[in-house]
Amino acid sequence: MTANPTRVLVLNSGSSSVKYQLLDMADSARLAVGLVERIGEETSRLTHTPLAAGGERRVTDGPIADHDAALKAVAAELAADGLGLDSPQLAAIGHRVVHGGLKFTAPTVIDEVVLAEIERLVPVAPLHNPANITGIRTAQALRPDLPQVAVFDTAFHTTMPEHAARYAIDVATADAHRIRRYGFHGTSHAYVSRRTAHLLGKDPSEVNVIVLHLGNGASASAVAGGRCVDTSMGLTPLEGLVMGTRSGDIDPAVTFHLKRVAGMSADEIDDLLNKRSGLVGLCGDNDMREIRRRIDEGDEAAALAFDIYIHRLKKYLGAYTAVLGRVDAVAFTAGVGENAAPVRAAAMAGLEGLGMAVDADRNAVRSDEPRLISPEGASVAVAVVPTDEELEIARQTYALVTA
Ligand code: ADP
Repeated sequence: MTANPTRVLVLNSGSSSVKYQLLDMADSARLAVGLVERIGEETSRLTHTPLAAGGERRVTDGPIADHDAALKAVAAELAADGLGLDSPQLAAIGHRVVHGGLKFTAPTVIDEVVLAEIERLVPVAPLHNPANITGIRTAQALRPDLPQVAVFDTAFHTTMPEHAARYAIDVATADAHRIRRYGFHGTSHAYVSRRTAHLLGKDPSEVNVIVLHLGNGASASAVAGGRCVDTSMGLTPLEGLVMGTRSGDIDPAVTFHLKRVAGMSADEIDDLLNKRSGLVGLCGDNDMREIRRRIDEGDEAAALAFDIYIHRLKKYLGAYTAVLGRVDAVAFTAGVGENAAPVRAAAMAGLEGLGMAVDADRNAVRSDEPRLISPEGASVAVAVVPTDEELEIARQTYALVTA
């Protein structure tokens, strides 16, 4: 008798990249991880690490024309380690899908109706949903018999109340164009808020958490008893915090001012605010390590960029403290949140009145484990909780197909 299949392949398909992980949900072990970059260019690269088979990283350079070729190359790498996609041990493929609108509040087994709905959301996620659809179709062609599950970045935020999700604009116009705040990074906010509760020895339903997901993209969320009640990203991932290349909050009049006064087109303004703003727009660098290095050398532009970044974070901490009424924990996560102790220290500086502080020694510890960095006995627990979106996607996928 063969045992029930327990492996899940997680695919995160971007416009020119595919990130993947193969996990065994019997023990949540990662069997293989990898990335295909620069799909469609001459300089494509596949980086594959078979963790189950000793962990030696393999890098293959050479043109990979499209997502179909990319996934076939990934399948070949996995097969070389005895982890092929034709394995009867594979239970499902879980896909990260960025925009699920209001309809998808939970992970969903993909069929043609679901795909059509993801397609219908392309106008509100033009950069992301088309790549996600391509990834799904390619994986379906490879294993048509296998359940494929969509796990949506927006799903965790669908619990936001109307007064947090609605923009204060004409309702008919908003509804006609589905303009409202959806929020993103939901898989990470869900995972980290739950993990933070466990770190405190509590059930997620018992605690109120502010999650700060600070990566190249960045967002904050207010999570009350396990449910998201507000988040900083909106119709698109542009709203909210200062990010690596995105402006975050801005007076919307800046956009028509740029059109009228600078003669910029909608596409040019889109490019400016999404790709040439944030930290990179302010000081030319979007990597927090480089910004800290420049600050240490006395660079004023880098110092101002850092201060603007921190000021915005503090505003959201204050706002979400008010939204939640009572905050039990603040959790820092993602590339900057997990690694940049100076960002955590600066964001918390002066917030003693809100019960928030960091202990310098605890904050300096480097670790991959969730940990507290607030002083002993602090009224608000401040924590560093490494995110794991792939594990969360795999868990949700596996739970759905074995339910
Ligand atoms: P995303 O998934 O949004 O691309 P990540 O969560 O991987 O981003 O975060 C990437 C960012 O994390 C980098 O741009 C860099 O600013 C920051 N980062 C990574 N490692 C460190 C570190 N050791 N110190 C400070 N910042 C770091």
